[in-house]
Amino acid sequence: MQLVDSHCHLDAPEFDGDRDAMVARARAAGVAAMVVPAITAASWPGLRQACAGDSALHPAYGLHPMFLAAHRPEHLDELRDWLERERPCAVGECGLDFFVEGLDAAAQRRYFDAQLQLAREFGLPVIVHARRAVEEVIHTLRRIGGLRGVVHSFSGSPEQARQLWDMGFLLGLGGPVTYPRANRLRALAATMPLEFLLLETDAPDQPDAGIRGQRNEPARLPAIAAVIAGLRGQPVEEVAAQTTANARRLFDLPDSPSP
Ligand SMILES: [Zn+2]
Repeated sequence: MQLVDSHCHLDAPEFDGDRDAMVARARAAGVAAMVVPAITAASWPGLRQACAGDSALHPAYGLHPMFLAAHRPEHLDELRDWLERERPCAVGECGLDFFVEGLDAAAQRRYFDAQLQLAREFGLPVIVHARRAVEEVIHTLRRIGGLRGVVHSFSGSPEQARQLWDMGFLLGLGGPVTYPRANRLRALAATMPLEFLLLETDAPDQPDAGIRGQRNEPARLPAIAAVIAGLRGQPVEEVAAQTTANARRLFDLPDSPSP
């Protein structure tokens, strides 16, 4: 059984002490590929370095809305250079966050719009962060048009999910779906078409119910897949096979041999 972690921040300082061991644990758990989105321009070189030399690790470059204070307009020009030179698997993490206090909405919109334009120009998928902002994200994706990608850690309504599928977008689900009280999310995971699902850990954040309060890591992905399979009443192998195929197609990842 092969899995793809479609969203993990394995360049995060939380992993500085044991990054190689953490990646080895992920491989041993059947995680054949990991997509690693960026947060700030300053993080791009370190991210590139963390993924270099390991064909299972796939960086994406972008400007994360929660780190707005670190972004400068010239970082968008630098992003264009990085996309041109590195040809990453995606643009991201980008998006809108109306949950965190004090993030200027207009500035967030400018960076998000510009990154979507770049993704379209380079024909790359986008990795979208949408917190308390799913409705506006949908409108923005529709307005720009010609995009594909994933709304990671999706937390919207069934109607919003359908609107995203209609645009060809996938939904990333991870740790939050493993908590018994997440009724709306669990109902979505139980009934949604598997062709639109990606699995993710968002490590080191969003630990699943089995490691509540602890540092998350990609080796936890099988636990998430098992919960979703259980909710669907479907063999975990089917969930793994389809979501892995979805991730490989969206991010144009090479097939990797069985671990
Ligand atoms: Zn993230």
